[in-house]
Amino acid sequence: MAKDYYKLLGVARNATKDEVKKAYRTLAHKFHPDKGGDEKRFKEINEAYQILSDERKRNQYDQFGQVFEGGDARGGASAGGFNWPGGFRVDFGEGFDGRGFADFDFSDVVDDFFGGAGRRKAAQERGRDIRIGIEISFDESVLGAKKEIEIMRLVRCSRCNGAGGEPGATVRMCPACQGKGHIQKTQRTFLGSFTSVATCTDCRGTGKIPEQPCTECRSKGVLEKQETLEIFIPRGIRDGEVLKITGKGDAISGGRTPGDLYIEIRVIPDPSRRRQGDDIIASLSLKVSQAALGDTVELTTIDGSIRLKVPEGTQSGDILSVRGKGAWRTSGYGRGDLLVQIKMETPKGLSKKGKDLMKQLAEEGM
Ligand SMILES: [Zn+2]
Ligand SMILES: [Zn+2]
Repeated sequence: MAKDYYKLLGVARNATKDEVKKAYRTLAHKFHPDKGGDEKRFKEINEAYQILSDERKRNQYDQFGQVFEGGDARGGASAGGFNWPGGFRVDFGEGFDGRGFADFDFSDVVDDFFGGAGRRKAAQERGRDIRIGIEISFDESVLGAKKEIEIMRLVRCSRCNGAGGEPGATVRMCPACQGKGHIQKTQRTFLGSFTSVATCTDCRGTGKIPEQPCTECRSKGVLEKQETLEIFIPRGIRDGEVLKITGKGDAISGGRTPGDLYIEIRVIPDPSRRRQGDDIIASLSLKVSQAALGDTVELTTIDGSIRLKVPEGTQSGDILSVRGKGAWRTSGYGRGDLLVQIKMETPKGLSKKGKDLMKQLAEEGM
């Protein structure tokens, strides 16, 4: 176990959601760097709160001592830097400066004493997030898939490497912000004085102004580009889940943190099978004779064809289960079952002989 999040927040392992929130508020006020608190502690407190305030992450943490961020833990379908599902990872960048706020909803805690300035600042200090949706087949959702997607995004200008100046151009310190990249404003209100920080518009937050602007990006440091990305859909993914690819949102000038890419998964329904939790439900039509006498039938599953033994006297509506042929569990360990629902085919258009046989069955009381 890497960190004891309960200890960090000073709450018991069975603490309620409210207790967790209360402990977090108290500690966040106490350790907030803007109020002279300890940055490292503040980051840890935030990380702990993000896990313990989310039921799913908390369960996972309680169970495994960690929260799985990527496909690795889900068994093989791994992709560099994708998180699971969006919003958990606290990416504070190098040196805490508040930009990490954008990664989670801090608003309820911050609003009351920062007047929302923390969020406004965060929005400008890193690139914009991009949200897209993709459709995958039922089989892909169960087995995982590799997909190529095309997105339009701002990427760092390769000519100036995001700096905004021609290669070799002399760089001056931005006079407007004196090289800080941001401008601090103190506002006095009847509630007290608030300090807000805004990105410098002259240098776009870089703190530097090149003598010769880059001819490629006209000193913006970024360019819009169509990009093809290869993404890995982890097996067992469900309809509506969101994948997060860190750093694949819009780039921003001056080597600052780019935004993230969020991909919402839409699973196209399959007419022949559906999912119920970790199990897959499929149906199988049987002839009356097969059901009555028993048979071994070939059944197509997402893993290919299997031979299914139908016991003698199978009824319509019976469910035959095939262990371990369902969907991958959300935890990444093991699979659910394949549940095969039996449907009976009543014979139609019987021949004379067929009708006679049926009559004989009827005489037998069947
Ligand atoms: Zn450029
Ligand atoms: Zn400036």
